[in-house]
Amino acid sequence: MDSDLAVLIETVNFAAEKHKNQRRKDPDGTPYINHPIGVARILSHEGGITNIQVLQAALLHDTVEDTNTSPAELQAQFGATVAGIVQEVTDDKSLSKQERKRLQVEHAPHCSHEAKLVKLADKLYNLRDLNRCTPVGWTAERVQDYFIWASEVVKGLRGTNPALEEKLDQLFQQRNVHI
Ligand code: NDP
Ligand code: ZN
Repeated sequence: MDSDLAVLIETVNFAAEKHKNQRRKDPDGTPYINHPIGVARILSHEGGITNIQVLQAALLHDTVEDTNTSPAELQAQFGATVAGIVQEVTDDKSLSKQERKRLQVEHAPHCSHEAKLVKLADKLYNLRDLNRCTPVGWTAERVQDYFIWASEVVKGLRGTNPALEEKLDQLFQQRNVHI
């Protein structure tokens, strides 16, 4: 087997094990792993990305933030480049949710190209998820606030991948969010 394929299977298996007890916030409680796999698919299928380290980082992007995975564990398993991209897209959970959201807007323009790609695909996936159905307990206003915040993050990611940015812009326009 091509070694890149074996590496990708190793990566998706690692993410699946880490997220095995987690569910998304949609009413169906979709298995969490659908999200990182979907983010990697957006990059490969819609963004034309073939860089395996970016695809690996997409598969792993929520492991440090949302599971017991440490940055050192990612570095040992997948190397410093992949671990570094994941670190760039990981929020500091010791901060308040409000502060974390503010820092995403502030930090977006300073991320590496690779991290910007993962962030664009992550936002595109989550906004599509919100359009598909409202998470349990969310009001329409909260969904709209999420779109507005996401547009502020995406503003700092522009000039990275025209195809993904175009699809994000369409979603913002549908919501009358100024871009
Ligand atoms: P959260 O950050 O709590 O939830 C959104 C995140 O959940 C996404 O970024 C995504 O992260 C993950 N997620 C899981 N399932 C789904 C799904 N089906 N669709 C979309 N995303 C999903 O939400 P908010 O951004 O609204 O809340 C954060 C801040 O807003 C806090 O400060 C909170 O206190 C405040 N708040 C705002 C309200 C409002 O009306 N605006 C109401 C209540 C609180 P990932 O990619 O990491 O999985
Ligand atoms: Zn995510």
